[in-house]
Amino acid sequence: GTDIPESNCDVLIVGAGPAGLMSATWMARCGIKARIIDKRGTKIFSGQADGLQCRSLEIFDSFGFADRVWKESNHMIEASRMCMWNPGPDGRIRRSDRVPDTIPGVSRFQQVVLHQGRIERFFLDHLKKYSDITVERGVLPESLDIDTSKVEDNDAYPITVKLRHLTDEEAMPAQSKSSNIADGLFRSNLAADDTDDLIRKSTGNEGNAEIVHAKYMIGCDGAHSWTRRQLGYEMQGEATDYIWGVLDIIPITNFPDIRMRCAIHSANSGSVMVIPRENRLVRLYIQLTEVRPDASGRADRSKITPDVIMKAAQKTMSPYKITYEYCDWWTAYQIGQRVGTNFDAHQRIFLAGDAVHTHSPKAGQGMNVSMQDAFNLGWKIGLVVNGVSPRSILKTYQSERRRIAQDLIAFDHRFSRLFSGRPAKDVTDEAGVSMEEFKAAFVKGNQFASGLSVDYGASMLVAKPGDSAEQGDGTDVGAAGTAANGSSARKVVGKQELATNIPLGMRFPSFQVVNQAGARPYPFQYWLMSDGRFRIVLFAGNMADESQKERVRRFCAELEKPGSVIRRYTPPDRAIDSVIEILTLHSAKRVDVELLVDFPAILHPFDEKRGWDYDKVFVDDVSYHEGFGDAYKNYGVDKERGCVVVLRPDQYVGYIGELEDVEDIEAYFAGVMIKDNGGLARTKVTKDVRETP
Ligand code: FAD
Repeated sequence: GTDIPESNCDVLIVGAGPAGLMSATWMARCGIKARIIDKRGTKIFSGQADGLQCRSLEIFDSFGFADRVWKESNHMIEASRMCMWNPGPDGRIRRSDRVPDTIPGVSRFQQVVLHQGRIERFFLDHLKKYSDITVERGVLPESLDIDTSKVEDNDAYPITVKLRHLTDEEAMPAQSKSSNIADGLFRSNLAADDTDDLIRKSTGNEGNAEIVHAKYMIGCDGAHSWTRRQLGYEMQGEATDYIWGVLDIIPITNFPDIRMRCAIHSANSGSVMVIPRENRLVRLYIQLTEVRPDASGRADRSKITPDVIMKAAQKTMSPYKITYEYCDWWTAYQIGQRVGTNFDAHQRIFLAGDAVHTHSPKAGQGMNVSMQDAFNLGWKIGLVVNGVSPRSILKTYQSERRRIAQDLIAFDHRFSRLFSGRPAKDVTDEAGVSMEEFKAAFVKGNQFASGLSVDYGASMLVAKPGDSAEQGDGTDVGAAGTAANGSSARKVVGKQELATNIPLGMRFPSFQVVNQAGARPYPFQYWLMSDGRFRIVLFAGNMADESQKERVRRFCAELEKPGSVIRRYTPPDRAIDSVIEILTLHSAKRVDVELLVDFPAILHPFDEKRGWDYDKVFVDDVSYHEGFGDAYKNYGVDKERGCVVVLRPDQYVGYIGELEDVEDIEAYFAGVMIKDNGGLARTKVTKDVRETP
């Protein structure tokens, strides 16, 4: 029908789970015209994912809403392991280990738990604050076309999607009939997907259809991803026989470690994992050894009820007693580990989150890794749509995130087997899982689970040795310094030795620094806002030393020049720090130097309405109330000579060099930015302290 409404949008996001909401957040912060749709009529109110890694909290803080999560969540401080008495004759469980849940010192945040519904709420509030983007619920795509002849034209709308608007009734998920408690079975891999049904039911009524032409599309539509199916992409991997149940209850128990994250490994009756939650809730993950998949490979979900799950827990936790009066939510799932073969089509349609990797939820990774996929992708699309960066940076999404997904699957594979396997009786019992092996995996898992071990390979965005082929997926992601527009091909490799604890390809770590003008201490990361800007962090070294000060002056003079790396990519009518921001950290005594006298103006730019910018120059010095951050030492940077670090908009380290390496810095940016771009679109809010200029 010709009367179906048609419209354009820059970015269409399908699915409003953690990955979709993170994508939308970047669009809001980069000022992109985006839409986000979800087939469900309501957001999540209980259950689902609950664990947040340190890195996810850092990311929330870079947008400005980690404080809400930090306040409401339960903080997991200690983890304990309960094992069967081994080789004791009585088969009783006992505590065999206590460890800190988060490795001390790795982040300024520790792992916390809060249910997905609240986390989605914070995203929704953030979208409202920064944009006009709202989640359109009860809407799903019915067809997808891509005009491949237009994919390289950045201004084209090569994607055409037909959307369906569902009735309220259609958009409500069916609940399990076997109990009257809210359950998540409709989202479990034990249930069939209803997407095709929904499309079939609503087709024919052209009144509820709409056509959208999009420049880019992000499929964040979960494990059954419709978008992935349209692209014909496969998931590699397999399902296991392990079936697990999940109960969110307020427990009544004499089990001593119920407020610890706890792994309980019984001799013969499976395993239980305890996750202490907010509001006195506790989540139990329970292996259901008596429910097995049938010949089709699927377990009969009608046999699984909260009662069945609770009985299994009681058996494992015996002789301790556990019951409940209140159950908030429950579900069951079958563990399978899969990873997608492709993460994008023509760098126009992208897949993120569960749409490209699925695994067991016990390791608490899915939501975190899904959000982090979108966190990696969103700013890249934002900068490309704004014309700030070339399309070629979009290739780094797959090269960076597919390897993370593979690592995740490998980790989960080991972890699940160790967790679901029977503990070894003694050293000669090779079929059993040795507790030493389990412990080692647990410790290694902690590093992985913090999200801080992510280390992106060499590419145009990460100037480190090695070539992109090492990433094993064949995508050519260029080398830093090879300009996308074909000009100056000067391969750049960062000098890691100048900042030994700021690894190229990893996220910039945080230590306490003190504001030069106001003497307030901050974690340095606080200033690395996710607003789409690249950053140059100038470790200015000893500013009380004349020759070092001269080096800093010369570096700044280069940046001040017409056509410099700063001027070249910043539209003349925009603030000088609106595309690339410079932050400075020096190591002299705070009282021995003066901001306005000793630091060149470009380090604290002047604005006619707002005066000097006092929030860009920091010092590594003792604070009055919060001690000394010793940042230079912790960052592994020479206190006298300093260095220069380039950070991507997602806080990952792109380049490290000397103050004299201006040409390398220019070459790095030539690879990732376009001259005469329109700049970033302004974000709406102006009152926020940490706001984009
Ligand atoms: P989803 O959250 O699945 O979101 C997909 C969205 O897309 C949904 O809202 C869906 O309605 C919508 N959608 C689907 N198809 C369509 C379509 N065709 N059209 C429009 N919309 C569509 N992860 C953790 O990190 N920590 C944990 O502690 C944790 N615990 C878990 C516990 C359980 C019991 C379960 C089941 C999962 C857990 N996970 C955990 C995993 C986590 O829930 C997922 O990995 C995460 O939700 C994936 O996010 P996503 O945005 O990719 O997909």
